[in-house]
Amino acid sequence: MATNNDDLFKNLVSHCKEYGFIFQSSEIYDGLSAVYDYGQYGAELKKNIRDYWWKSMVQMHENIVGIDSAIFMHPTTWKASGHIDAFNDPLIDNKDSKKRYRADVLIEDHVSKIESKIDKEVNKAREKFGVSFEEQQFRTTNSRVVENQKKIDAINERFKTGMDASDMNAIRELIIDLEIVCPVSGTRNWTEVRQFNLMFSTQMGSVSEDASTLYLRPETAQGIFVNFLNVQKTGRMKIPFGIAQTGKAFRNEIVARQFIFRMREFEQMEMQFFVKPGTEMEWYQHWKEARIKWHYSLGFPAGKHRFHDHIKLAHYANAACDIEFEFPFGFKELEGIHSRTDFDLKAHETFSGKKLQYFDPELNESYVPYVVETSIGLDRMFLSVMTQAYKEEKLEDGSERVVLNIPVFLAPVKAAILPLVKKDGLPEKAREIIDQLKFDYMCQYDEKDSIGKRYRRQDAIGTPFCITVDHQSLEDNTVTIRYRDTMTQERIAIDRVKNTIESKVSYRETITAS
Ligand code: ATP
Repeated sequence: MATNNDDLFKNLVSHCKEYGFIFQSSEIYDGLSAVYDYGQYGAELKKNIRDYWWKSMVQMHENIVGIDSAIFMHPTTWKASGHIDAFNDPLIDNKDSKKRYRADVLIEDHVSKIESKIDKEVNKAREKFGVSFEEQQFRTTNSRVVENQKKIDAINERFKTGMDASDMNAIRELIIDLEIVCPVSGTRNWTEVRQFNLMFSTQMGSVSEDASTLYLRPETAQGIFVNFLNVQKTGRMKIPFGIAQTGKAFRNEIVARQFIFRMREFEQMEMQFFVKPGTEMEWYQHWKEARIKWHYSLGFPAGKHRFHDHIKLAHYANAACDIEFEFPFGFKELEGIHSRTDFDLKAHETFSGKKLQYFDPELNESYVPYVVETSIGLDRMFLSVMTQAYKEEKLEDGSERVVLNIPVFLAPVKAAILPLVKKDGLPEKAREIIDQLKFDYMCQYDEKDSIGKRYRRQDAIGTPFCITVDHQSLEDNTVTIRYRDTMTQERIAIDRVKNTIESKVSYRETITAS
């Protein structure tokens, strides 16, 4: 059993492999760094998360539609979007450990350490003063907190100035001044900082003279921008409206060490919401609230999510924040919400020479809409669900079980149908039940090993319902249904099985809450 977060994360990673959720890509060739494959249960869970996002964003909104654009795009797209010139991360190497780091992440981690000191002070004071505690007042008057906050503000200011001016020397100096050491070698023997473009390129065309350089898209958003008018016109969309899509994106990440948190090939779920210029801040607020509610709707305990405002805005944004989730390795970005202004559409107008404007019938004029974007990584969302679901439990009888408390509607397999023994007509009866359920739910048949072992196997993949068929089932058409989370069992008529599952699997209530 894991005793700390590091162990818990290691156990979760092994569990994902052992139970067919995630494998390393091309494992028989020793794998490919930061590229992963989803196994039989992983693919189901991923699909269910994607469906839940799609239903919440597209199906539940009359004014949001979904598309599926190609991964390859005309190379000028990336010139216009700024990715060729500016989609860089600052990298730095430690000369002793030969490990490579993102300079911005080293600085952010340093700031997080100071933030935790502040949080500790605040929590101590909250405990001491109880209900009469005024957090805001404490934060602005307690000398240790004020001093640490000043340190953070000064670091952020220097970082922002350096990044805005693309002054990599200034970023290096900041790392040196903060006395940041390499976590592996423990030394401050750093190289220069240099900018590194994250896009992968490839060639299209068979003869090398004709071939042109293409990029694997680093975000799905540009496929939406270039289709803005196609969708607006064919769908007769009126502003404000949104275009959503899910799909693969590729980034040649400098550091990719945290399992599926940071991959070189990953999947995004993005929605671009087109609004009237001047109303973007209202919509930015609106989507911030809507998206955090969506995360809350999964029923994770309070305090697992938080907002983090960006200090260094991307070249296209006038406001941006992340929704962070508490992964076993700390609070990290799960989703980004960005007010992208009219940067992208205007740039595509300039580079393509085509107008990308909306005629507003109320104003009787045309304008380039502003855009508020919500962008979430499907793989990171998967990791957050697994992190939250994975439990190592000690049971009353002293035994242990590993269970995945995945929200029922997301579970890869909804019901396992288990004949108590593999004879006397019980397997046939079990198959009859599967035949009723399989049109609506992923089901699994299992007759091998003791019933206890089979329950454990289903717990480990997060199956919420185990339906056991025994000799009594042949007499009175009843079965036992066992619930994953409580391990309680009840006897119900076979013709009630489908309704019982239905009432718990439906995400009508969850989606309404989001
Ligand atoms: P980070 O700061 O972690 O590199 P980012 O700010 O570059 O992320 P965005 O460009 O805002 O990320 O991308 C939107 C979302 O896509 C992120 O919130 C994240 O969930 C996901 N994402 C981005 N890069 C990766 C990656 N390398 N692997 C998995 N998911 C990713």
